[in-house]
Amino acid sequence: MAELTSLTISDARDGLKKKSFSAAELADAHLAAMEKARALNAYVLETPERAHAMAKASDARIAAGKAGPLEGIPIAVKDMFCTEGVRSTAGSRILKNFIPAYESTVTANLWRDGAVMLGKTNNDEFAMGSSNETSHFGPVISPWRRKGANTPLVPGGSSGGSAAAVAANLALGATGTDTGGSIRQPAAFTGTVGMKPTYGRCSRWGIVAFASSLDQAGPFTRTVRDAAILLRAMSGHDPKDTTSVDRAVPNYEAAIGKSIKGMKIGIPKEYRLDGMPAEIETLWRRGADWLKAAGAEIIDVSLPHTKYALPAYYIVAPAEASSNLARYDGVRYGLRVAGRDITDMYQKTRAEGFGPEVRRRVMIGTYVLSAGYYDAYYLRAQKVRTLIKKDFEDCFNAGVHAMLTPATPSAAFGVGEKGQADPVEMYLNDVFTVTVNMAGLPGISVPAGLDGQGLPLGLQLIGRPFDEEMLFSLGEAIEQAAGRFIPQKWW
Ligand code: GLN
Repeated sequence: MAELTSLTISDARDGLKKKSFSAAELADAHLAAMEKARALNAYVLETPERAHAMAKASDARIAAGKAGPLEGIPIAVKDMFCTEGVRSTAGSRILKNFIPAYESTVTANLWRDGAVMLGKTNNDEFAMGSSNETSHFGPVISPWRRKGANTPLVPGGSSGGSAAAVAANLALGATGTDTGGSIRQPAAFTGTVGMKPTYGRCSRWGIVAFASSLDQAGPFTRTVRDAAILLRAMSGHDPKDTTSVDRAVPNYEAAIGKSIKGMKIGIPKEYRLDGMPAEIETLWRRGADWLKAAGAEIIDVSLPHTKYALPAYYIVAPAEASSNLARYDGVRYGLRVAGRDITDMYQKTRAEGFGPEVRRRVMIGTYVLSAGYYDAYYLRAQKVRTLIKKDFEDCFNAGVHAMLTPATPSAAFGVGEKGQADPVEMYLNDVFTVTVNMAGLPGISVPAGLDGQGLPLGLQLIGRPFDEEMLFSLGEAIEQAAGRFIPQKWW
């Protein structure tokens, strides 16, 4: 039998049911692997006691014939999710010692279904970044390396720890959050599957807020089927989040293997960027050929406002962030740095508690919302957002079932290689993913090949609102054609 840590969630589920191994053995194998992989810095907190206790309870439920859908499955949790009694930092110094008194709805749903928590994964501070380099806990090192080189590479971000943990077999699955690409981009960089569901599919309650109208939770896994399994558990209506949608959660796994014959797949021409590496172009074409071979119809479509999505995102997201982060004032949460008076205390706390990228976003956000600039920036960005959404609606109304695009404009880059002199260089990582958040649509990144340097590349599928099932069917067709990609173990 394969090593316990290299199983898929569906295989582990079967093995536990057949009693080939216990939940305790599965948890122990992962905890041991995590200990050996600390050089990756994927976890900011390991929770072995909790894992042992939860696995023991799972084994008891399995023995009693009361197993839940995720019974005994070891999962890693991005540190943006509040976990009751377990430190939750959002990757920030300001929350370095924050122990929530409550559990996020998404993680509560996982534990309800029997999953076992392994620990909390590293992420860019407040999920602001595309490389996991803005984390207060230092960068995550990707388990992937360029052929014949040992330059440390980024796993992408902001959910870099979750992506690295799943790619390096340090968890069978992980949670992420995606505001502009933070699940799909790291999934593409690490050869894992990452899904951002439709806005409102998962509750945001108990997730540290970055940009509330864009934030959405979703799964990281090693197969498309596993993403379907995990998303089902994470999803659902929650009265504690008024933007969560009261709509039945389908059995997403049933979409795996479903015929995609006759499905109309749009190829948006605006995603063909000047200067995009030829390998990305080839991958994209190959992806379209795979879907065509499986019976889908490929059609060229236009999403004319695509080029405004990134600039509009970098107004809307910081605006919402500046408002959401106002709560970190040294009074109610986390760090407090003493000052002469209360204003001085606020200023010192925020200056020392937030890192440079977060401070930049707060300043941009405050600026675009300020009197005199609000109409020129924020209001205009909201209008652009409506146009981006309408572009997609027009295509879907014309019969397109989903879009196929590259997930990222390049493969993973080296730690410290990008965005040092100009932050926009880093922001450009999200050109293909932010549109999906702006429009509130579901998107999945599926590993589709390796580049010339041996690094994984992903393809993105974008679907109609609440049609995650279509993305799972199409995604699995790509996975069947492309195969799976596993990093060589060096850590
Ligand atoms: N990289 C984008 C940003 O920094 C998206 C991050 C995210 O999705 N959380 O805003």
